[in-house]
Amino acid sequence: MIKRNLRSAFVAGATLVALAACSSTDTDTVSTTKNEFNGPKNIIMVVADGMGPAYTTAYRNYVDDSKTAIVETVVFDDLLVGNASTYPAQVSGYVTDSAAAATALATGIKSYNGAIGVDVDKQPVQSVMHYAKQKGMRTGLAVTSQIVHATPASYIAHNESRKNYNAIADDFYDVRVNGEFVADVMLGGGTRYFEREDRDVLAQFIDAGYAYADSYNRLASVPTGSNVIGLFAPVALPWVLDDSRKNRLEYLTKQAIRQLENDKGFFLLVEASQVDWAGHANDIASAMAEMHDLALTIEYLKAYVSENPDTLVVLTADHSTGGLTIGARGDYRWTPSFLHKLDASASTMAKDIAGESLPGAYIEKTLGFALTDEEKKHFDDVAKQEESERYTAIKSFLDDKTNTGWTSTGHTGVDVEVFAFGAGYNAFMGQIDNTDIAKKIFSFIDKRPVLSSGIQTNIEMTPSDDKSDTCNFKEDWRCQ
Ligand SMILES: [Zn+2]
Repeated sequence: MIKRNLRSAFVAGATLVALAACSSTDTDTVSTTKNEFNGPKNIIMVVADGMGPAYTTAYRNYVDDSKTAIVETVVFDDLLVGNASTYPAQVSGYVTDSAAAATALATGIKSYNGAIGVDVDKQPVQSVMHYAKQKGMRTGLAVTSQIVHATPASYIAHNESRKNYNAIADDFYDVRVNGEFVADVMLGGGTRYFEREDRDVLAQFIDAGYAYADSYNRLASVPTGSNVIGLFAPVALPWVLDDSRKNRLEYLTKQAIRQLENDKGFFLLVEASQVDWAGHANDIASAMAEMHDLALTIEYLKAYVSENPDTLVVLTADHSTGGLTIGARGDYRWTPSFLHKLDASASTMAKDIAGESLPGAYIEKTLGFALTDEEKKHFDDVAKQEESERYTAIKSFLDDKTNTGWTSTGHTGVDVEVFAFGAGYNAFMGQIDNTDIAKKIFSFIDKRPVLSSGIQTNIEMTPSDDKSDTCNFKEDWRCQ
């Protein structure tokens, strides 16, 4: 109840801000009436890649206090406003990939699976980030994948294929809005794509005045209000279970906001990129750990919006992944408590078990719960197998313990939840389409004053990479 009242207060606060703005300006370039909402000052779009509805339910059960009779609500529950369809352009059927979905969320246009910021005719389309920059907002992104991965790429770049990481990295520098770079702040992984033999895009950004951070601590020392590129891994960040920071997305989000805050407002894209990767891998332990990092991020953003009620936060997924089910194989049971004490990801356990003299004991210690002698013997045998088989064995063991089910190693076509809070949140209520999210954000940005006249976005396609260097996303969703 308290939380619901708080949300009303956000909206009331935003209305007051809008009214104050109207009464104090007679010659404003924006035509407003006294009761018209002028749009949020700051817009934060959060994409939880792969987070279908089963993930949010599973997360609620995962953090449930089993000593009480009820399942306690979690941060997402109070913020739910509706549901979005995710289907791509007709040419790609009913099940979207992250590129088409990100293009829809970023530009409001449905495209084919694989498209990065281009329409079905492979023509470049404008994103809400381009438009925010055109309107004088500061802009940024904070993600846990490489920053050239499908979701962040679709807000900046234009490429016929998500696989062309090098060309997409070039676009981060080459695509300009009114002569300016699209993003002022870029945080995530991906030095491999920015420091290349054929082109050092990172050096170009540094020459152009960007601060560079290659570690979380160094990021904290960048002076507030800087333009910054922070790349913390050659490709993606580690699984959160293996990361030195267990709140890495929350941390990157805070740091991005610190750099972006200014009088004219900002647009920030945040992505919990690896919920999707856990889904592709059918790895329930990492799925829940990545969800927890997201939940911490949303807790922080709730606190931020209560201090800054002129900020809008929208959270949704691009699609669901893996066909996750809570309970499986005809058994009416789900037991997430087996996931509470993991000391490393299943992926790391699969690597490390091979070098252990007592593999069963190592797995028992790393999982954090007692194994039977038979189970320990099983892992002694598993340790002699190939790494991919070891990984599968550890994940299957946790699936059996928790009774988790999966139907796919790819995406599924179900609708996804939409969560929103802060100024203008109610524009996202009900059953909507993923393209509606971009359309609403465009309309909010559109309400802002035009800061200079005759602005044209200079959007051009860059040529594709050499096809020999591309990656098969069916085989490897991380595509390194
Ligand atoms: Zn995916």
